[in-house]
Amino acid sequence: MVGTPPQTMADAIAIRLGGLVCLALAGACADSPEPMDDEWMGQGESGPDDPEPEVVLPTDIPPPVTWREVGTLTVDDFGAAGTIAVPFPAGQRYVAVRSVPLDATTGDAVACHRVMRAQWSSGEIVVPEQGTAPSDGHQHLVPGPGAGVFVMSTNVEPLHEADTLELELGLFDCGLAIPASRARFPGMPRTVRVDVASEPEPTESSPTATVAVRLARAADSGWGPMAEDPALWDAWAVAVERFADIGIELRLEAELELPDAGVTEYGADMIGLASLQQHVHAQLQADPTDARFVPVALVRCLDYEDPTATSRSRPVGQATRIPGSLADAATPSLVVLAGGDCQAGPDATLIHDPARYGVVLAHEIGHYLGLFHVDTALGSHLPAAGDERLMASTIAQAIDPERAWFSPAQATVLLRHPDVVIGDR
Ligand SMILES: [Zn+2]
Repeated sequence: MVGTPPQTMADAIAIRLGGLVCLALAGACADSPEPMDDEWMGQGESGPDDPEPEVVLPTDIPPPVTWREVGTLTVDDFGAAGTIAVPFPAGQRYVAVRSVPLDATTGDAVACHRVMRAQWSSGEIVVPEQGTAPSDGHQHLVPGPGAGVFVMSTNVEPLHEADTLELELGLFDCGLAIPASRARFPGMPRTVRVDVASEPEPTESSPTATVAVRLARAADSGWGPMAEDPALWDAWAVAVERFADIGIELRLEAELELPDAGVTEYGADMIGLASLQQHVHAQLQADPTDARFVPVALVRCLDYEDPTATSRSRPVGQATRIPGSLADAATPSLVVLAGGDCQAGPDATLIHDPARYGVVLAHEIGHYLGLFHVDTALGSHLPAAGDERLMASTIAQAIDPERAWFSPAQATVLLRHPDVVIGDR
């Protein structure tokens, strides 16, 4: 596919946010072209008063994921929310459970929503309690700051039996890895709603699978528009090739220009990326139900401060959720790719070749869609070998891009993510 210009926007009809979208929503948004309710300003000469360039959004938007409420749970002052029975239908491509705060208030610290334990009605353990080493047969579900979205199965084997899942949920201090107390997290919710979503397995033997990507490119990222910048196009083509290798079409659906981003600083809770994500989402979503795409922001550089604030690092890429998630939660849901070096000036050029950016982009989209690193305990349930090194934690430095591909087991899990669209669009 290298050398072929992206096709997806050619057929699309321009939708200007604040115009047609408001009409379509029948009064759901204000008439005046007020700025969106976000605070991301970038750091360059151009400011919020400048007109936003027009974005061409796709018109063939897939149906949204349908969430059904299972019930609510009360959270005590020590983070315990109790157990809820979640119906688990048979023959589903995925079953996703989410924990949504109903009355959280804003605070400096955000507690994570966590599956503390889960078992089938038979008593068989699905998620062991904290302190028990997970085995390859367990589900590997990661806590989410501000809200939880847990997509199953994370394993090669599907969870195909119809059953009832007894799910114990709680609020968790992700920094200290202990239950969250109200003393430390005064704003944490007292009530959470539990929803479930699922989608039947496709009936065709080899249906098409598509992952839509919408790109937001900061003016100081080091890249130009895709159609005019061979370096960006080559990087994109490498990512496309990695997904094509496992039968998934990576489709570029939209390109948005952003002002200079400057240095993008964030920590383990990813809250530092929230305003960028809100800014990008507000312009890349055709309407609030339009969420089954991966937003990718290209920025100048990333500056990550570790949870103990003792070190900083400059990642090339970042996915805000491992595994990936859906948009309507408190945590930003975004992939970020950094072209340059934080130590260089604003006119710095790209510091890696296109193949490196391409495999990092594919790696981060892999995280967004539910994959762990293969070289961690959490990733041990998804075997990889030989040239299947794309999900290695050292992808930005040490892995030869030629040897960076998804494994068949990773492909199986990717194809279960709700944001992967199965079937024709
Ligand atoms: Zn990674």
